[in-house]
Amino acid sequence: MEWDKIFKEIEGKGTAARQNAQKREIISLLAKSSAEMTIPEICRRIQLSIPTGTKLVNELIADQVITTTGKKETGNGRKPIMYSLNPHSLYSVGVEILMRRISIGIIDLKFNTVFYRRDKNFRLQDNEESLATVEHFIKESIEEAGIETSRILGLGIGLTGRVNIQTGIAYNYFLFLQEPLSQYFAKAFSKRVIVDNDTHIWGHAEQMLGRARETSNALVVNLGRGLGMSIIVNGQMVNGVSGFAGEFGHMQFGGSDKLCICGKRGCLGMDVSGYALEEKFKMKIEEGETSILTRELELDQLRYDDILEAASRGDALSITLIQQMGNQLGKALGNIVNLLNPEVIVLGGKFARAESLLVDSVRSGMIHSALPNPMKNVTLELSNLDEKGGVRGAGAMVFKQYSLI
Ligand SMILES: [Zn+2]
Repeated sequence: MEWDKIFKEIEGKGTAARQNAQKREIISLLAKSSAEMTIPEICRRIQLSIPTGTKLVNELIADQVITTTGKKETGNGRKPIMYSLNPHSLYSVGVEILMRRISIGIIDLKFNTVFYRRDKNFRLQDNEESLATVEHFIKESIEEAGIETSRILGLGIGLTGRVNIQTGIAYNYFLFLQEPLSQYFAKAFSKRVIVDNDTHIWGHAEQMLGRARETSNALVVNLGRGLGMSIIVNGQMVNGVSGFAGEFGHMQFGGSDKLCICGKRGCLGMDVSGYALEEKFKMKIEEGETSILTRELELDQLRYDDILEAASRGDALSITLIQQMGNQLGKALGNIVNLLNPEVIVLGGKFARAESLLVDSVRSGMIHSALPNPMKNVTLELSNLDEKGGVRGAGAMVFKQYSLI
């Protein structure tokens, strides 16, 4: 099958390259359209002659990219054939690489996850062995999924730490590489590869599939072990000049003088994060407070997930700590609300499981710092994406790059 040339020969000249460009336009039009279309409609929208449009559509049918889906009823009794995109014609691969977990999803054009795999035993390290593990995990998963590789458009990879999406360079992991990480993976998989940080891929997921779908101005907070933010302004993800926009956790909104991994003191993430929750909980227990968790777990084995879960069972100490954290997060968010006037703030990451406990405390914190007018116009939402959200967001970046969504 030669059809994947349509997406490979983007720079070419001549008739074949022009026709591939026109085919990409047809695919993009049908991918974005919610309804089926006739050939005259397709030709009108992308300014093709009927004979050329018919020829290209027939070639795309032969390549199983387009399917005919019944006939349109018209007033005069003629029933032209309707065309739509075959959802199984194109896929993207989304990968999420976190410190203690790696996940992969293969996504079709309708955002269905046709294959999903996760390895919780994975440990991310800045060495060649860890990179080889990632590469092997991706290759093995694609093979296991049994999808024709020519139908995979590319890979979107979300990696924890700082990443420059424009250059594809990662700044916290795989520093030994002589080339950008995206280029390394592009060679390894013979596909186009986009690398961004893990918070941004969740931002994409919320924008494409989640609570930020209906708006052009949103903040997506990723509160898990760390704290990050994706900023969507006028429908666009704000990356900044080198991809580092959204380092919310390193803003000097914190109250503690604890040294952050960035080398500074006073970072919000040292007060508001899974890490901070664990530290505060341990401190309180050492000061003599009690919790149902101390009967169930050794203090050094305790993870912030356990504290979130204990809060849902009514554990007073866990509830108080999450409330205080939510309040502090809200005060910090109020400042961003004053700066950007968002319509929606999506609270995502593992803390979303604290539900109303988190939302209510964030809201009461925000009231302290947000001005009344922008405060009135912003709604606070809990993310409704499941654990596959990250890989779906990563896969969506690939489709977006090809203008398919
Ligand atoms: Zn910091």
